[in-house]
Amino acid sequence: MSRILVTGGTGYIGSHTVVELQNAGYTPVVVDNLSNSNVGVLDQIAKITGTRPEFHNFDLCDEGAVRAFVAGQPDITGIIHFAAYKAVGESVQQPLKYYHNNFFSLINLLNAYRDKPVNFVFSSSCTVYGQPDELPVTEAAPVKRAESPYGNTKQVAEEILSETAAAAGNYQVVSLRYFNPVGAHDTALIGELPLGVPQNLVPFITQSAIGKRGPITVFGNDYNTPDGSAVRDYIHVVDLAKAHVAAIKLLERGNPNGNYDVFNIGTGTGNSVLEVILAFEESTGVALNYRIGPRRTGDVEQVWGDVSKSTVELGWRAELGIADMMRSAWKWEQYLQDHPLT
Ligand code: NAD
Repeated sequence: MSRILVTGGTGYIGSHTVVELQNAGYTPVVVDNLSNSNVGVLDQIAKITGTRPEFHNFDLCDEGAVRAFVAGQPDITGIIHFAAYKAVGESVQQPLKYYHNNFFSLINLLNAYRDKPVNFVFSSSCTVYGQPDELPVTEAAPVKRAESPYGNTKQVAEEILSETAAAAGNYQVVSLRYFNPVGAHDTALIGELPLGVPQNLVPFITQSAIGKRGPITVFGNDYNTPDGSAVRDYIHVVDLAKAHVAAIKLLERGNPNGNYDVFNIGTGTGNSVLEVILAFEESTGVALNYRIGPRRTGDVEQVWGDVSKSTVELGWRAELGIADMMRSAWKWEQYLQDHPLT
């Protein structure tokens, strides 16, 4: 069965995608430099699927290493490119670190595959929409000025990919614009491993609930939303992983829309921060300690996606709801406490 290169495959979304690729009969080949992940994830994947994926540890910014890898792997038919730095706040403090890693890794891959036909799936983000003028936001909405160097790397990467696909003609690209990935695998054997204090709501909730962090701060309750807190389209990481398998299958069939395309990957509904807190409490039975704080700079008020294009053209839709997301995230936090990954 087809061999698919998964860059960043030991990371949060990558590891779940490796599992779904294996479930669908593909052979994922993982490349990761473990800059934000743990090698123990490979054994965890093996516990879920029975197969430890092939693993190559190198930095995709190393052009020679990328070329050597590609030369030694002539039978790879698809690439799912997760590898990137992703901390929005850190990208504001250290923009060059983000531009260097996120661009050189992408450009080295594209250069190495310049003469080989390959299907390419890219991890983009709903951050490209900023605060959309209309909700739910469709793929046709204008891309807004990025709020951070991280967000800018996604916008420019999309341009690099669409221009390169147009010029090269020998491969097809799909950018998946993720909304807010949360949750963990139902086995609780893999999940998100945030470094330091989590910047995202759900890992902060689970760490607060288990006693690793203090009270949760709700950043703003005066937004123009039903309960005043910010609204996001939360998507279960397993559903998100399956969207990558659907994207690979679309490219294998041949995308009728041409050799560059974008898809929203969300549930199509928004949940406020306060609704997420309530959903966690109701689905786990664990009470949370939270307080209202000021708005956080750079946060948009509300965003959720129109997912009709993914439903119709990708043949994919999210199946898991907010309660599944909360339960699985909590199970994973509890698992980690007893089984720290080494
Ligand atoms: P993650 O940090 O868990 O995974 C990224 C992986 O890439 C890590 O394992 C890291 O070690 C690896 N990596 C980074 N730079 C590398 C390099 N130069 N060479 C080799 N490996 C390298 O992040 P994630 O949450 O799984 O995100 C995956 C992708 O999805 C990223 O591109 C991210 O920007 C994008 N994304 C994430 C979210 C989110 O909320 N998690 C939302 C939208 C988009």
